[in-house]
Formats: sequence, C-alpha cells, structure tokens
Amino acid sequence: LLQIKDLHKSYGSLEVLKGIDFSVSKGEKVAVIGPSGSGKSTCLRCVNFLEKPSRGHIILDGERVGVKPGSDRLMSDAELAPQRAQMGMVFQLFYLWPHLTVLENVSIGLRKVQGVPSNEASEIAMDMLEKVHLGNKANTFPGLLSGGQQQRVAIARALAQRPKLLLFDEPTSALDPELVGEVLNVIQELADEGRTMLLVTHEINFARDIADRVIFMDGGVVVEEGPARELITNPQAERTRVFLSKIE
Ligand code: ATP
Ligand code: MG
Repeated sequence: LLQIKDLHKSYGSLEVLKGIDFSVSKGEKVAVIGPSGSGKSTCLRCVNFLEKPSRGHIILDGERVGVKPGSDRLMSDAELAPQRAQMGMVFQLFYLWPHLTVLENVSIGLRKVQGVPSNEASEIAMDMLEKVHLGNKANTFPGLLSGGQQQRVAIARALAQRPKLLLFDEPTSALDPELVGEVLNVIQELADEGRTMLLVTHEINFARDIADRVIFMDGGVVVEEGPARELITNPQAERTRVFLSKIE
C-alpha cells in the first residue's frame, strides 16, 4: 500500500535521512523505533509531504505522493490535501482547534477538504467519536478534555477522512503516564479492525505486541527490520541491541 523509496532529506548541510527504503502492505502494522534525532519524525513527515523530500519517492496505492501525475511538478498544498487525507496523521501534540467543539474538530476536514455536506460530516464525525469512546464529549471544547481524551479526538479526526493508512508519531509521549493506556487501547482496537498503520513509538512493549514488523532507525538509515517479536527480543545488529538495552 505504501512504498518509501530512496528517501533523502537534508536541512541545509545536515543530512537527516540518508536513503530510507521500506514498504507497508495493506492491513500491516509497522512500528518505527530508534534513538532521538535518528530521523523518525522527519521520515513520517516526508511520507505525507509535510516535509518535502530532498530525493526519493513516496508511493501510496500506486500513486506518487506530492508530485503531479505525468510530470515532475510538485503539488501545491491544496492539491496535496486529498492525498494527505488518505494518510490520517496523529501527532505527539494534538493540534485541535480550541474555538471549535470536539465534533467540529473531527468534521471540519470532511467539510473543507472533501466537500462532504455538513449533516453527513457530523454523522461520520459522531461515529468516529464513538469509536474512540468519546461520543458523550461531542459538544465540549477541547480545552476541557484531558490530554488522553484530546489525543483520542485527534485520532477520530484522522479516522473521519477514511484514510487508507494511519500515521502515528509518538502519540502517547506528551501524555501523563496514567493517560497513556486509554490511547494505546484505542490504537490497539484500530489495529484489531485490520487497519494499516505506520507508528513511530518509544513504547517498545506496545510495538512488540501490536506491530507485525519493526523498523529500527539510527542516524538517518534503517539499521534493521524484522518481525516485531523477533527484532525486539533478539536483535541482530549491535546498534539495535545497544538501543534496546538502554530503554529496558
Ligand atoms: P525524537 O525521537 O526525538 O522525536 P526523531 O527520530 O523523530 O527524534 P527527527 O525529529 O526526525 O528525529 O529529527 C532528526 C534530525 O533532524 C535532528 O537532528 C533534528 O534536529 C533535525 N531536524 C528536524 N527537523 C528540522 C528542521 N525543520 N530544520 C532543521 N533541522 C531539523
Ligand atoms: Mg520525533
């Protein structure tokens, strides 16, 4: 479903991604782990063109992301919006609109990006809020919710656009410890539904349990990838071993 080919990204003279290649099949859950600064977020942001890759291709369901078909011309943000909607992204921080209700936060993308009529958008948004167990908070404002609830709203917002895959960038690392579980539970339920996911996480046990495959990144390259349980319990590369021994 998703292919990342020879992905490079530099900021000035700093080469952050030095040629990343991997793919995610339909229904697969892939976790990306690695030390701080290794380029995990940059990689995820390049996948949906929040950052423009310096080199390489992103292919989603056979279509090149961010580049007009039949040309080398980059898409504008407006042209990118429908492709981005196909890859629901959930960030470390939730970025909800404080002046909109929870329901409006979830439905706004549908109305503005996909042109779905208001009633229908609200219905879909309500279904998604129920999926993340927040149906009772639809008319509340985000500022009145806990961090875990806000992150679940952000997940509902990503789901509302009916994405082909979900991108998570450390979705629980900004949360108080007691709120992590409720968000991981929702992600687990989505995984159980058979959704395709690419998840950057430092929750190694969660990665081991939820992911089919784990990718270990360090210094802008993929050092090692393999079946989740195998890679985490018996890493092959020395760098992976050192990383895992430090966090356990
Ligand atoms: P963490 O685990 O801390 O989230 P990460 O693996 O997600 O780390 P990135 O955020 O991708 O790492 O950052 C990789 C490197 O790129 C870092 O050295 C960072 O300082 C640099 N970097 C990221 N974004 C920018 C930017 N917009 N401009 C310049 N340098 C950047
Ligand atoms: Mg990061």
